[in-house]
Amino acid sequence: MQLRIAGITQESVVDGPGLRVVIFTQGCPHQCPGCHNPQTHDPNGGYSITAAEILTVIENSPLIRGVTFSGGDPFLQPKPLTFIAKQVHKRGLDIVTYTGFRFEEVVALGLRRPEIKELLQSTDVLIDGPYLAAERDLRLAFRGSRNQRLIDVPRSLKSGRVILWEDPAARIWA
Ligand code: SF4
Repeated sequence: MQLRIAGITQESVVDGPGLRVVIFTQGCPHQCPGCHNPQTHDPNGGYSITAAEILTVIENSPLIRGVTFSGGDPFLQPKPLTFIAKQVHKRGLDIVTYTGFRFEEVVALGLRRPEIKELLQSTDVLIDGPYLAAERDLRLAFRGSRNQRLIDVPRSLKSGRVILWEDPAARIWA
């Protein structure tokens, strides 16, 4: 199973809680002014890699707490990322997914496209919404602007309303 990515970071502490492998997916439609990763916008850019190769990188990262799908926008490639997420969960690790869509938009897209719904259901924490330069705040944990939310996806899907994810370490900075 193939996907296009801009790169992989094997040990990050700024893209979700704890030490994480970060997959920077290729392709993003949001065009946020001030985006820090413009090289990820072209869906034909970056390079092709197999899900198996990414899982090997994860296997070779024994100290991580989880894996982060960043971008780009991961929801442009939901099938291979869901496959990876399921394997990651089997190893007892968690999944953080960034998206320029708002949670409510992802839920709506998932009604028409089951693969979108499946990636959302395979995510533990969703960091949602476009980067808004006017709401930029360097004190925020794991995100660039105040409109972006850290969402507890399993609890939000179960209750039918957005429930924010909370972490003691995040509370220090939020
Ligand atoms: S969603 Fe992220 S990668 Fe896409 S344009 Fe906005 S800031 Fe850049």
